[in-house]
Amino acid sequence: MKIIYKILFFILLFILFTSCYTYSKRILRIDNNWKKDTLQNYLLYYKPLSKTDKNLPKTKLRIDSAIAKAKKKAQVFDFKKPPFHLFILENQKDFIPFEKIPYQGLTYAKSNTILVTQNFCSETHEYFHLLSIQQWGETKVWIKEGSATFSDEKFHGKNVHSLCHYLFKENKLMSFDSLFSDRKFVKNSYRVSYPQSGSLVSYIIEKYGFDIFLQVWKAKNIKPLHISKEKLKEDWILFIQKYPTNGIKFSI
Ligand SMILES: [Zn+2]
Repeated sequence: MKIIYKILFFILLFILFTSCYTYSKRILRIDNNWKKDTLQNYLLYYKPLSKTDKNLPKTKLRIDSAIAKAKKKAQVFDFKKPPFHLFILENQKDFIPFEKIPYQGLTYAKSNTILVTQNFCSETHEYFHLLSIQQWGETKVWIKEGSATFSDEKFHGKNVHSLCHYLFKENKLMSFDSLFSDRKFVKNSYRVSYPQSGSLVSYIIEKYGFDIFLQVWKAKNIKPLHISKEKLKEDWILFIQKYPTNGIKFSI
């Protein structure tokens, strides 16, 4: 009997240990060849001889300016658990050992960790994810990605409202039912779902105010707007049509 208790005790210890095991530790364990720098807001990790290593002071300035912009956009004074772990990867291919997909950036809010490419580290997107999810909790994908895209102000260098006006004319926009479904959002081309949710979140903040947007985030639906999905779509389509589409060419 005693042996069974001992085994159960070790199983319990193992469960406790693995549940505390954060993503940042996993990455460090997979590949311990990281240089580390301790800053006020974040612990910066980068590879020796990488672009970050060679341009360290400039990279830190780019990151700090993006973080300041993200805080302003989220109307949040500071990170919940500073310092967070910030891994700068050389390019999208470097994501493959961790996630099997060549992302530009990923945020693990529970692990207080951001992975981002050298090019993308000066965008507000991932810092906004970390600030917002830690502050307001989890929500629907369109609200999370829409607000992070809203913080970037542009998508692939294009104004999101103009881009959505262009996609509307091309009949490429998602239906609101699909946009609001996490599964369909993720399945759709991100080149439509991201600018469309970004434009919609931006429109909601502009028309209804940031406090109402926060209610939408927390409710995980548009009930705080007190209008139907159909009316919201109608109003938003009228809004994006005010933005010129001159010269836009965009494949999805
Ligand atoms: Zn995102």
